Amino acid sequence: MELDILDGDGRSPEDATEAGSYFVSNYPPYSAWSGDQVEAAHRALSTPPSETDHRPLGLYLHIPFCRKRCKFCYFRVYTDKNSSDVDVYLRALAKETELYAAQAGLQGRDFEFVYFGGGTPSFLSSEQLKRMVDRINDHWNWEAAREVTFECEPGTLKKQKLETIRSLGVTRLSLGIEHFNDDVLERGGRAHKSAESLLAYAWAKEVGFPQINVDLIAGMIGDTEVSWKDTVEKTLALDPDNVTIYQMEAPHNSRMAKEAREAGTVIPVASWSQKRAWVDYAFTLFEQSGYVVSSAYTLVKPQSHEGFVYRDALWRGADMIGAGVASFSHFGGVHFQNDGGWDGYTSALLARGTLPLYRALPTNEHQRLIREMVLQLKLGRIDAGYFREKFDVEILEAFAQAFCSLVDDGFATIEGDAITLNRAGLLCVDELLWRFFEPQYRNAGSG
Ligand code: SF4
Repeated sequence: MELDILDGDGRSPEDATEAGSYFVSNYPPYSAWSGDQVEAAHRALSTPPSETDHRPLGLYLHIPFCRKRCKFCYFRVYTDKNSSDVDVYLRALAKETELYAAQAGLQGRDFEFVYFGGGTPSFLSSEQLKRMVDRINDHWNWEAAREVTFECEPGTLKKQKLETIRSLGVTRLSLGIEHFNDDVLERGGRAHKSAESLLAYAWAKEVGFPQINVDLIAGMIGDTEVSWKDTVEKTLALDPDNVTIYQMEAPHNSRMAKEAREAGTVIPVASWSQKRAWVDYAFTLFEQSGYVVSSAYTLVKPQSHEGFVYRDALWRGADMIGAGVASFSHFGGVHFQNDGGWDGYTSALLARGTLPLYRALPTNEHQRLIREMVLQLKLGRIDAGYFREKFDVEILEAFAQAFCSLVDDGFATIEGDAITLNRAGLLCVDELLWRFFEPQYRNAGSG
Protein backbone atom coordinates (compact mmCIF):
# COMPACT_ATOMS: atom_id res chain seq x y z
CA MET A 1 0.00 0.00 0.00
CA GLU A 2 1.30 3.48 -0.88
CA LEU A 3 1.12 6.37 1.51
CA ASP A 4 -0.72 9.48 0.51
CA ILE A 5 2.35 11.65 -0.06
CA LEU A 6 1.94 15.39 0.03
CA ASP A 7 3.65 17.91 -2.19
CA GLY A 8 6.90 19.44 -0.97
CA ASP A 9 7.43 18.99 2.75
CA GLY A 10 3.73 18.49 3.33
CA ARG A 11 3.26 21.77 5.18
CA SER A 12 0.75 24.50 4.61
CA PRO A 13 0.21 27.23 7.21
CA GLU A 14 -2.97 25.70 8.62
CA ASP A 15 -1.60 22.18 8.35
CA ALA A 16 1.71 22.65 10.14
CA THR A 17 2.09 21.21 13.63
CA GLU A 18 2.23 24.29 15.81
CA ALA A 19 2.71 24.49 19.56
CA GLY A 20 -0.39 23.52 21.49
CA SER A 21 -2.57 20.59 22.50
CA TYR A 22 -5.30 19.32 20.25
CA PHE A 23 -6.21 16.26 22.30
CA VAL A 24 -9.58 16.47 24.09
CA SER A 25 -9.48 14.35 27.23
CA ASN A 26 -12.24 15.93 29.29
CA TYR A 27 -15.11 18.40 29.35
CA PRO A 28 -15.54 21.18 30.47
CA PRO A 29 -11.88 22.04 29.81
CA TYR A 30 -9.34 22.11 32.63
CA SER A 31 -8.99 25.88 32.31
CA ALA A 32 -12.52 26.17 33.77
CA TRP A 33 -11.62 24.31 36.99
CA SER A 34 -10.77 26.44 40.01
CA GLY A 35 -9.52 26.32 43.57
CA ASP A 36 -12.68 27.86 45.00
CA GLN A 37 -14.73 24.87 43.80
CA VAL A 38 -12.77 22.26 45.75
CA GLU A 39 -15.48 22.09 48.41
CA ALA A 40 -17.79 20.52 45.79
CA ALA A 41 -15.35 17.62 45.47
CA HIS A 42 -15.36 17.07 49.25
CA ARG A 43 -19.16 17.14 49.25
CA ALA A 44 -19.36 14.53 46.47
CA LEU A 45 -16.88 12.27 48.24
CA SER A 46 -18.74 12.49 51.54
CA THR A 47 -22.16 11.67 50.04
CA PRO A 48 -23.03 7.96 50.51
CA PRO A 49 -23.92 6.16 47.26
CA SER A 50 -27.65 5.64 46.79
CA GLU A 51 -29.10 2.19 46.18
CA THR A 52 -29.88 3.07 42.58
CA ASP A 53 -26.43 4.40 41.92
CA HIS A 54 -24.44 1.81 40.00
CA ARG A 55 -21.72 3.93 38.46
CA PRO A 56 -18.55 1.86 38.04
CA LEU A 57 -15.57 2.99 40.10
CA GLY A 58 -11.94 3.02 38.96
CA LEU A 59 -8.57 3.92 40.42
CA TYR A 60 -5.79 5.68 38.55
CA LEU A 61 -2.36 5.66 40.19
CA HIS A 62 0.08 8.23 38.85
CA ILE A 63 3.74 7.20 39.05
CA PRO A 64 5.53 10.41 38.02
CA PHE A 65 9.09 9.15 37.51
CA CYS A 66 10.95 8.71 34.22
CA ARG A 67 14.55 7.93 33.35
CA LYS A 68 14.70 10.86 30.97
CA ARG A 69 12.28 13.57 29.85
CA CYS A 70 11.01 13.04 26.29
CA LYS A 71 11.11 16.15 24.12
CA PHE A 72 7.36 16.07 23.57
CA CYS A 73 6.35 15.42 27.17
CA TYR A 74 4.00 17.75 29.01
CA PHE A 75 3.18 15.54 32.00
CA ARG A 76 4.19 16.19 35.60
CA VAL A 77 7.21 13.89 35.81
CA TYR A 78 10.52 13.83 37.69
CA THR A 79 13.82 12.55 36.35
CA ASP A 80 15.96 13.51 39.36
CA LYS A 81 14.47 11.62 42.31
CA ASN A 82 16.42 9.04 44.30
CA SER A 83 15.04 5.94 45.99
CA SER A 84 14.28 7.68 49.28
CA ASP A 85 12.30 10.37 47.37
CA VAL A 86 10.44 7.57 45.61
CA ASP A 87 9.63 5.98 48.95
CA VAL A 88 8.27 9.30 50.29
CA TYR A 89 6.06 9.52 47.21
CA LEU A 90 4.81 5.96 47.53
CA ARG A 91 3.97 6.53 51.21
CA ALA A 92 2.00 9.64 50.19
CA LEU A 93 0.20 7.65 47.50
CA ALA A 94 -0.72 4.93 50.02
CA LYS A 95 -1.96 7.58 52.47
CA GLU A 96 -4.09 9.09 49.74
CA THR A 97 -5.79 5.78 48.95
CA GLU A 98 -6.30 5.24 52.71
CA LEU A 99 -8.07 8.63 52.97
CA TYR A 100 -10.29 7.70 50.03
CA ALA A 101 -11.19 4.40 51.68
CA ALA A 102 -12.66 6.41 54.58
CA GLN A 103 -14.89 8.59 52.37
CA ALA A 104 -18.63 7.89 52.69
CA GLY A 105 -19.06 8.05 48.90
CA LEU A 106 -16.75 5.07 48.42
CA GLN A 107 -18.14 2.78 51.12
CA GLY A 108 -19.07 -0.69 49.92
CA ARG A 109 -17.70 -0.07 46.44
CA ASP A 110 -14.99 -2.06 44.66
CA PHE A 111 -12.73 -0.92 41.86
CA GLU A 112 -13.91 -2.20 38.51
CA PHE A 113 -10.67 -1.07 36.88
CA VAL A 114 -7.24 0.05 38.02
CA TYR A 115 -4.72 1.94 35.89
CA PHE A 116 -1.05 2.43 36.72
CA GLY A 117 -0.07 5.41 34.57
CA GLY A 118 2.71 7.89 34.39
CA GLY A 119 5.29 8.94 34.10
CA THR A 120 6.63 5.44 34.05
CA PRO A 121 5.16 2.93 36.52
CA SER A 122 7.82 0.42 35.43
CA PHE A 123 10.49 2.86 36.67
CA LEU A 124 9.79 1.35 40.12
CA SER A 125 11.79 -1.67 41.22
CA SER A 126 10.02 -4.96 41.94
CA GLU A 127 10.43 -4.30 45.68
CA GLN A 128 8.99 -0.80 45.43
CA LEU A 129 6.07 -2.11 43.39
CA LYS A 130 5.28 -4.88 45.88
CA ARG A 131 5.56 -2.48 48.82
CA MET A 132 3.30 0.06 47.12
CA VAL A 133 0.60 -2.49 46.35
CA ASP A 134 0.84 -4.04 49.85
CA ARG A 135 0.32 -0.63 51.43
CA ILE A 136 -2.64 0.19 49.20
CA ASN A 137 -4.12 -3.24 49.85
CA ASP A 138 -4.26 -2.49 53.57
CA HIS A 139 -7.42 -0.57 52.67
CA TRP A 140 -8.43 -1.82 49.24
CA ASN A 141 -8.16 -4.88 47.17
CA TRP A 142 -8.70 -5.07 43.46
CA GLU A 143 -9.39 -8.77 43.13
CA ALA A 144 -12.79 -7.86 41.73
CA ALA A 145 -11.32 -5.51 39.11
CA ARG A 146 -12.13 -6.54 35.54
CA GLU A 147 -8.98 -4.91 34.24
CA VAL A 148 -5.68 -3.74 35.76
CA THR A 149 -3.50 -1.83 33.29
CA PHE A 150 0.18 -1.07 33.78
CA GLU A 151 2.21 1.29 31.54
CA CYS A 152 5.84 0.40 30.87
CA GLU A 153 8.87 1.97 29.28
CA PRO A 154 10.66 -0.95 27.56
CA GLY A 155 14.14 -0.05 28.81
CA THR A 156 13.07 -0.33 32.46
CA LEU A 157 11.98 -3.97 32.17
CA LYS A 158 13.54 -7.31 33.00
CA LYS A 159 11.70 -10.60 32.86
CA GLN A 160 11.68 -10.85 36.64
CA LYS A 161 10.10 -7.39 36.98
CA LEU A 162 7.41 -8.40 34.50
CA GLU A 163 6.73 -11.50 36.62
CA THR A 164 6.28 -9.24 39.63
CA ILE A 165 3.95 -6.95 37.69
CA ARG A 166 1.85 -9.93 36.60
CA SER A 167 1.76 -11.27 40.17
CA LEU A 168 0.25 -7.97 41.33
CA GLY A 169 -2.84 -8.78 39.27
CA VAL A 170 -2.03 -6.77 36.13
CA THR A 171 -4.13 -8.01 33.21
CA ARG A 172 -3.22 -5.47 30.56
CA LEU A 173 0.39 -4.51 29.94
CA SER A 174 0.90 -1.37 27.88
CA LEU A 175 4.34 -1.04 26.30
CA GLY A 176 5.43 2.46 25.30
CA ILE A 177 7.41 1.36 22.25
CA GLU A 178 6.44 4.54 20.32
CA HIS A 179 8.69 3.82 17.32
CA PHE A 180 11.16 1.26 15.99
CA ASN A 181 13.72 3.65 14.52
CA ASP A 182 16.56 4.36 16.95
CA ASP A 183 17.39 7.72 15.42
CA VAL A 184 13.76 8.83 15.78
CA LEU A 185 13.68 7.58 19.39
CA GLU A 186 16.93 9.41 20.15
CA ARG A 187 15.79 12.68 18.58
CA GLY A 188 12.54 12.51 20.54
CA GLY A 189 14.52 12.18 23.77
CA ARG A 190 13.23 8.68 24.53
CA ALA A 191 15.24 6.72 27.06
CA HIS A 192 14.93 3.34 25.29
CA LYS A 193 16.07 1.79 22.00
CA SER A 194 14.23 -0.57 19.66
CA ALA A 195 16.23 -3.64 20.76
CA GLU A 196 14.90 -3.13 24.31
CA SER A 197 11.34 -2.98 22.94
CA LEU A 198 11.75 -6.33 21.22
CA LEU A 199 13.23 -7.93 24.34
CA ALA A 200 10.53 -6.48 26.60
CA TYR A 201 7.79 -7.69 24.27
CA ALA A 202 9.22 -11.21 24.15
CA TRP A 203 9.47 -11.37 27.97
CA ALA A 204 5.92 -10.04 28.34
CA LYS A 205 4.67 -12.81 26.05
CA GLU A 206 6.57 -15.44 28.06
CA VAL A 207 5.14 -14.13 31.34
CA GLY A 208 1.68 -14.37 29.81
CA PHE A 209 -0.32 -11.19 30.27
CA PRO A 210 -3.94 -11.58 29.12
CA GLN A 211 -3.63 -8.38 27.05
CA ILE A 212 -0.56 -6.66 25.65
CA ASN A 213 -0.92 -3.20 24.13
CA VAL A 214 1.75 -1.50 22.06
CA ASP A 215 1.80 2.33 22.02
CA LEU A 216 3.09 4.07 18.89
CA ILE A 217 3.41 7.73 17.93
CA ALA A 218 3.14 8.83 14.29
CA GLY A 219 5.24 11.81 13.24
CA MET A 220 7.93 12.00 15.91
CA ILE A 221 10.90 14.27 15.09
CA GLY A 222 12.73 12.77 12.10
CA ASP A 223 9.96 10.31 11.22
CA THR A 224 9.71 9.58 7.48
CA GLU A 225 7.54 7.46 5.26
CA VAL A 226 10.18 4.74 5.33
CA SER A 227 10.71 4.74 9.12
CA TRP A 228 6.97 4.85 9.81
CA LYS A 229 6.19 1.96 7.45
CA ASP A 230 8.98 -0.04 9.04
CA THR A 231 7.60 0.71 12.53
CA VAL A 232 4.11 -0.41 11.51
CA GLU A 233 5.42 -3.61 9.93
CA LYS A 234 7.57 -4.48 12.96
CA THR A 235 4.62 -3.88 15.27
CA LEU A 236 2.40 -6.07 13.12
CA ALA A 237 5.00 -8.84 13.29
CA LEU A 238 4.76 -8.77 17.11
CA ASP A 239 1.04 -9.60 16.84
CA PRO A 240 -0.05 -7.61 19.94
CA ASP A 241 -3.62 -7.78 21.26
CA ASN A 242 -4.08 -3.99 20.94
CA VAL A 243 -2.20 -1.15 19.31
CA THR A 244 -2.61 2.49 20.30
CA ILE A 245 -1.41 5.14 17.86
CA TYR A 246 -1.19 8.84 18.70
CA GLN A 247 -0.42 11.67 16.30
CA MET A 248 2.53 13.66 17.62
CA GLU A 249 1.59 17.04 19.02
CA ALA A 250 3.81 19.75 20.48
CA PRO A 251 2.33 21.00 23.76
CA HIS A 252 3.39 24.53 24.74
CA ASN A 253 5.37 23.36 27.76
CA SER A 254 7.21 20.54 25.95
CA ARG A 255 10.95 20.87 25.36
CA MET A 256 10.36 20.54 21.63
CA ALA A 257 8.04 23.59 21.53
CA LYS A 258 10.34 25.63 23.80
CA GLU A 259 13.41 24.89 21.67
CA ALA A 260 11.61 25.90 18.48
CA ARG A 261 10.35 29.08 20.17
CA GLU A 262 13.82 30.05 21.35
CA ALA A 263 15.45 29.29 18.01
CA GLY A 264 12.64 30.99 16.08
CA THR A 265 12.19 27.87 13.95
CA VAL A 266 9.20 25.73 13.04
CA ILE A 267 8.45 22.69 15.16
CA PRO A 268 10.25 19.78 13.45
CA VAL A 269 7.22 17.52 13.29
CA ALA A 270 5.31 16.34 10.20
CA SER A 271 2.18 18.20 9.16
CA TRP A 272 -1.24 17.08 10.39
CA SER A 273 -2.25 15.73 6.98
CA GLN A 274 0.98 13.74 6.82
CA LYS A 275 0.41 12.25 10.28
CA ARG A 276 -3.17 11.38 9.41
CA ALA A 277 -2.00 9.66 6.25
CA TRP A 278 0.48 7.66 8.33
CA VAL A 279 -2.14 6.61 10.88
CA ASP A 280 -4.49 5.72 8.02
CA TYR A 281 -1.74 3.57 6.53
CA ALA A 282 -1.28 1.77 9.87
CA PHE A 283 -5.03 1.30 10.37
CA THR A 284 -5.41 -0.14 6.87
CA LEU A 285 -2.47 -2.51 7.20
CA PHE A 286 -3.66 -3.79 10.59
CA GLU A 287 -7.22 -4.18 9.28
CA GLN A 288 -5.88 -6.33 6.45
CA SER A 289 -4.40 -8.57 9.15
CA GLY A 290 -7.70 -8.96 10.98
CA TYR A 291 -7.51 -6.10 13.50
CA VAL A 292 -10.49 -3.82 14.07
CA VAL A 293 -10.33 -0.04 14.55
CA SER A 294 -11.93 0.48 17.96
CA SER A 295 -11.37 4.24 18.32
CA ALA A 296 -9.48 7.14 16.77
CA TYR A 297 -6.35 5.78 18.43
CA THR A 298 -6.80 2.05 18.94
CA LEU A 299 -6.77 -1.18 17.01
CA VAL A 300 -7.75 -4.46 18.61
CA LYS A 301 -7.42 -8.08 17.61
CA PRO A 302 -11.04 -9.25 18.08
CA GLN A 303 -10.18 -12.84 18.96
CA SER A 304 -8.02 -11.85 21.94
CA HIS A 305 -9.61 -8.56 22.98
CA GLU A 306 -12.03 -8.60 25.87
CA GLY A 307 -12.88 -4.89 25.84
CA PHE A 308 -11.07 -1.90 27.21
CA VAL A 309 -12.72 -1.40 30.58
CA TYR A 310 -10.82 1.76 31.61
CA ARG A 311 -11.61 3.65 28.41
CA ASP A 312 -15.18 2.47 28.03
CA ALA A 313 -16.11 3.08 31.68
CA LEU A 314 -14.51 6.52 31.69
CA TRP A 315 -16.17 7.56 28.46
CA ARG A 316 -19.54 6.48 29.87
CA GLY A 317 -19.32 8.60 33.02
CA ALA A 318 -17.74 6.21 35.54
CA ASP A 319 -16.32 7.55 38.80
CA MET A 320 -12.56 7.51 38.86
CA ILE A 321 -10.25 8.41 41.71
CA GLY A 322 -6.92 9.71 40.43
CA ALA A 323 -4.24 9.31 43.09
CA GLY A 324 -0.83 10.92 42.75
CA VAL A 325 0.69 14.32 42.12
CA ALA A 326 -1.39 16.41 39.65
CA SER A 327 -3.81 13.50 39.07
CA PHE A 328 -7.32 14.04 37.74
CA SER A 329 -10.48 12.56 39.22
CA HIS A 330 -14.14 12.50 38.32
CA PHE A 331 -16.49 11.57 41.13
CA GLY A 332 -20.25 12.05 41.58
CA GLY A 333 -20.32 14.53 38.69
CA VAL A 334 -17.45 16.65 40.04
CA HIS A 335 -14.09 16.99 38.31
CA PHE A 336 -11.07 17.60 40.50
CA GLN A 337 -7.31 17.64 40.30
CA ASN A 338 -4.57 17.14 42.87
CA ASP A 339 -1.83 19.56 43.79
CA GLY A 340 0.77 19.54 41.01
CA GLY A 341 3.81 20.27 43.17
CA TRP A 342 5.96 17.67 44.92
CA ASP A 343 6.03 19.51 48.25
CA GLY A 344 2.37 20.48 48.17
CA TYR A 345 1.27 16.95 47.32
CA THR A 346 3.46 15.03 49.76
CA SER A 347 3.07 17.45 52.69
CA ALA A 348 -0.74 17.54 52.41
CA LEU A 349 -0.78 13.77 52.81
CA LEU A 350 2.17 13.00 55.05
CA ALA A 351 2.29 16.10 57.29
CA ARG A 352 -1.38 17.09 57.47
CA GLY A 353 -3.20 13.88 56.49
CA THR A 354 -5.56 15.68 54.11
CA LEU A 355 -6.53 15.05 50.50
CA PRO A 356 -4.25 17.17 48.28
CA LEU A 357 -7.03 18.71 46.17
CA TYR A 358 -6.05 21.76 44.13
CA ARG A 359 -8.90 22.68 41.78
CA ALA A 360 -12.35 21.36 40.88
CA LEU A 361 -15.44 21.88 38.79
CA PRO A 362 -18.93 20.57 39.61
CA THR A 363 -20.62 19.70 36.31
CA ASN A 364 -24.31 19.94 35.47
CA GLU A 365 -26.34 17.27 33.65
CA HIS A 366 -25.97 19.04 30.29
CA GLN A 367 -22.18 19.18 30.64
CA ARG A 368 -22.01 15.51 31.61
CA LEU A 369 -24.00 14.67 28.50
CA ILE A 370 -21.62 16.72 26.31
CA ARG A 371 -18.63 15.09 28.03
CA GLU A 372 -19.87 11.58 27.28
CA MET A 373 -20.91 12.51 23.76
CA VAL A 374 -17.56 13.99 22.73
CA LEU A 375 -15.57 11.22 24.39
CA GLN A 376 -17.72 8.51 22.78
CA LEU A 377 -17.39 10.22 19.38
CA LYS A 378 -13.73 9.19 19.60
CA LEU A 379 -15.00 5.62 19.16
CA GLY A 380 -16.10 6.63 15.68
CA ARG A 381 -19.75 5.86 16.35
CA ILE A 382 -22.34 6.88 18.90
CA ASP A 383 -25.87 5.78 19.56
CA ALA A 384 -28.51 8.49 20.05
CA GLY A 385 -30.59 5.87 21.93
CA TYR A 386 -27.97 5.67 24.69
CA PHE A 387 -28.33 9.41 25.40
CA ARG A 388 -32.12 9.24 25.17
CA GLU A 389 -32.16 6.53 27.79
CA LYS A 390 -29.52 7.97 30.11
CA PHE A 391 -30.17 11.73 29.82
CA ASP A 392 -33.67 11.89 28.30
CA VAL A 393 -32.28 14.08 25.51
CA GLU A 394 -32.63 13.71 21.74
CA ILE A 395 -29.05 14.60 20.86
CA LEU A 396 -29.78 14.76 17.12
CA GLU A 397 -32.21 17.60 17.87
CA ALA A 398 -30.37 19.29 20.75
CA PHE A 399 -27.08 19.32 18.80
CA ALA A 400 -28.58 19.43 15.29
CA GLN A 401 -26.27 22.16 14.06
CA ALA A 402 -23.09 20.38 15.17
CA PHE A 403 -24.18 17.01 13.74
CA CYS A 404 -25.30 18.60 10.44
CA SER A 405 -21.93 20.33 10.14
CA LEU A 406 -20.15 16.99 10.51
CA VAL A 407 -22.31 15.51 7.74
CA ASP A 408 -22.01 18.61 5.50
CA ASP A 409 -18.23 18.63 5.92
CA GLY A 410 -18.08 14.98 4.84
CA PHE A 411 -16.97 13.53 8.20
CA ALA A 412 -20.08 11.64 9.32
CA THR A 413 -23.24 9.82 8.31
CA ILE A 414 -26.44 9.49 10.31
CA GLU A 415 -28.82 6.58 9.96
CA GLY A 416 -31.60 6.35 12.52
CA ASP A 417 -29.93 6.54 15.93
CA ALA A 418 -26.49 5.61 14.58
CA ILE A 419 -24.02 8.45 14.07
CA THR A 420 -20.86 7.19 12.36
CA LEU A 421 -17.64 9.01 11.60
CA ASN A 422 -15.82 7.98 8.45
CA ARG A 423 -12.03 7.48 8.43
CA ALA A 424 -11.36 11.15 7.60
CA GLY A 425 -13.53 12.25 10.53
CA LEU A 426 -12.03 9.72 12.89
CA LEU A 427 -8.46 10.78 12.12
CA CYS A 428 -9.17 14.42 13.03
CA VAL A 429 -11.86 13.80 15.65
CA ASP A 430 -10.20 15.94 18.33
CA GLU A 431 -10.47 18.95 16.03
CA LEU A 432 -14.19 18.37 15.51
CA LEU A 433 -15.34 18.03 19.10
CA TRP A 434 -15.42 21.74 19.99
CA ARG A 435 -18.52 22.00 17.78
CA PHE A 436 -20.44 20.34 20.63
CA PHE A 437 -19.01 22.55 23.39
CA GLU A 438 -20.98 25.29 25.12
CA PRO A 439 -20.09 28.69 23.58
CA GLN A 440 -18.01 29.81 26.59
CA TYR A 441 -15.65 26.83 26.20
CA ARG A 442 -15.17 26.81 22.42
CA ASN A 443 -11.88 28.67 22.54
CA ALA A 444 -10.73 27.47 25.94
CA GLY A 445 -7.24 26.04 26.19
CA SER A 446 -6.83 22.58 27.66
CA GLY A 447 -5.45 24.35 30.77
S1 SF4 B 1 8.04 8.38 29.16
FE1 SF4 B 1 6.07 9.43 28.97
S2 SF4 B 1 5.81 10.50 30.91
FE2 SF4 B 1 7.99 9.94 30.76
S3 SF4 B 1 8.99 11.72 29.89
FE3 SF4 B 1 8.44 10.38 28.19
S4 SF4 B 1 6.39 11.08 27.50
FE4 SF4 B 1 6.79 11.95 29.53
